[in-house]
Parts: sequence; C-alpha cells; structure tokens
Amino acid sequence: MEDVPPSDRLDAKDIEQLRRSLLGWYAQHGRDLPWRRTRDPYAIWVSEIMLQQTQVTTVLPYYQRWLERFPTVFALARADLQSVLKVWEGLGYYARARNLHRAAQMVVDDCDGRVPREVNVVMQLPGIGRTTAGGLLSAAFNLPVPILDGNVKRVLTRLSGSTLPPTAAQRLLWQLSEQLLDRNQPRDFNQALMDLGATLCVPRQPSCPLCPWRECCVAYHLGLQEQIPVSARSPDLPHKHIGVAAIWNDRGQILIDRRPARGLLGGLWEFPGGKIEPGETVEDCIAREITEELAIAIEVGDRLVEVTHAYSHFRVTLYVHHCRYLEGEPQPLACEEIRWVKPSELVEFPFPRANLRIIEALPPTSPYL
Ligand code: SF4
Repeated sequence: MEDVPPSDRLDAKDIEQLRRSLLGWYAQHGRDLPWRRTRDPYAIWVSEIMLQQTQVTTVLPYYQRWLERFPTVFALARADLQSVLKVWEGLGYYARARNLHRAAQMVVDDCDGRVPREVNVVMQLPGIGRTTAGGLLSAAFNLPVPILDGNVKRVLTRLSGSTLPPTAAQRLLWQLSEQLLDRNQPRDFNQALMDLGATLCVPRQPSCPLCPWRECCVAYHLGLQEQIPVSARSPDLPHKHIGVAAIWNDRGQILIDRRPARGLLGGLWEFPGGKIEPGETVEDCIAREITEELAIAIEVGDRLVEVTHAYSHFRVTLYVHHCRYLEGEPQPLACEEIRWVKPSELVEFPFPRANLRIIEALPPTSPYL
C-alpha cells in the first residue's frame, strides 16, 4: 500500500453530515455508562483516568468502589497513598492512581477543589494528557475540546483512508478530530466518537454495514477497513528498567510475592520491585516501590545481580539489590500474597524465567546475618 496521509478533503457539507449521522446513531445506540449519568467533574475525571489502557467492563466495579471510598476530590486528597493504592489494587498501571491522588491534592490546594476548565491548566495536572483533557472537559463542562484516544485514532484513520501508521499521522488526526467536533454538542459528539470506535469500528471485522459513517468512509469504500490502520513498521521493542528487592529479615528469610492472577505472568511468584521512573536511581525506585506495594520500610543494600530478559513485546532489565527489612507488616497492596521463605524453599514456588536467574545468584544464607 502506498503511504497516504489523512486527507483534509472534508468540506463543510461532509462535516455537517458526519456530525448529524453520528449524533443520531449515538442517541439510539450510545452506551449507558455510570460516568455519563453525572456532571460531577471529579467523577468524570476518575473515569477518564481509569479508562486509560483499561476496558470499560474492567473499570465499572472499580469506578463504583472508588466513588464509595473517595466520593469527592477532598476525600481523595486527604486519603493516604496506601489506601488509594489499595482501592486501585488490581487495576494495573499504578502510576495512574498515584497521579490522580497527587492531582487531587493540587486541585484542593490550588483551585479550592474545583476542577479547572482550561485545557492548558488541566494538562498541568499529573496523569492528564491531551486526550484525557479533551474527554474530561467535553464530558464535564460540554467544552469543545477534541479527543484522540486509541479507538478514535482507528476510526479517523479509516474514515480518512490514511495508510500511514496512526503514530506517524498524529498531527493530522488531531486536526481531523478538531474539525469534526460539533461545537454545539461537544460532550455528546466526543462520547459518540468513542462509542463508534468501541462498538462498531473495532480493530477486527468492523461492523461497517451498521456504521453511520459508511457513506463517507474511505477505508470502507476501498474495502481496506481490515488493513487500516497499518501498524508501525519494525518497532523497536520497548525496554523496561525495573528495580527489584531481595529483602532479608533477621531470621535469614527472603520475601517473595505472588502476582495477580490476571495479566502478564499472572499468578507467578517474584521478588518485589517496580519500574524506575525518569530521574530516579535504582535505590530510590526500590525504596519507593517497596513502600507503595508492600507498606514496609527497608534499607537498600548492595547490587546482587542484573538480569536482562526479552518477552515477545518488550525487553526488561531487572536491577536486583539486597535489602534489609526494617519494620512494618508486609501488605499485598499490588500482589495476591506475600511470604517469607528460606532460600532453600524457593524451588517450591513457580517463578518467571528472569526471576530464576535471580535465585541462581542468591547466596545460600542472608548477607545480613
Ligand atoms: S464504515 Fe467501517 S471502517 Fe469506516 S468508520 Fe464505519 S465501522 Fe469504521
């Protein structure tokens, strides 16, 4: 396929027709979602953050529980991080919860608890990028701010017949989203666009015969809806850098945890740790992750081993340090279960392959005894 960027061929009549047909379809087929029954900017904000990288069906129970536990931005701002992470537990991508918590404190401290209405202000809050800002401001305040999440990128790429990977056509897709947005009904328009991508214009076998946009859709007319969007060519595998703790107690035992049953390596045991944030040292990362995920205090010691491992979609390097347990009762805030075990007992537990190399590197007894 020849590289074709998203076109700007839409004239005012096309745009009007696209708006009308989409809104008409949405009035009949739009999904009934709890965050659409409220105008509370805080509740809508929570839903927008939870929906980043997570499906609606997964988010629903978390959203309800979150609002029961933290019904207002004030309640969230004064909660401690451990209880926030506890309520988020199992939803994944924990930086979202940490950012939401921090952002709630900023909104309370700087804006008297009112969610800002200006795009540039709201985008200064941790965890809010351009599309989340658009989703939040249009849904909460009916402001004409465009969106471009993964579903919307797919819809607009197909509509325009672009054969560039969406990442390469980002700027033009934003323009298209802005051009199409109905200034009179931005809330409904953006929600409708999301629903179109989530229910009809799905990645495989889109339901084009039911689609309100099929008349104008270039991919549909060319019979290319299965081929578009094309994926980016030969992407470099992302490389994750993880700080990992081999935590020893004063009885010579080492702490392991069991990963949640779902998701990557679900149900396997591992040594606790997490992603090194930009600008963070391995030692700082380990101390932070262990506080956040296990709620215990440790002293980070010498490097034990460094392990690099390739999975199908990414590579990971584990920077493993010996750590001395200091205090606190370990809590499984981000895992299913925690155990203290002797090094000789580790063979009884299933570990991912990268962790087996950590076990091989472990001394038979604690370096702290
Ligand atoms: S006609 Fe098909 S490919 Fe085009 S926007 Fe509708 S569902 Fe997507």
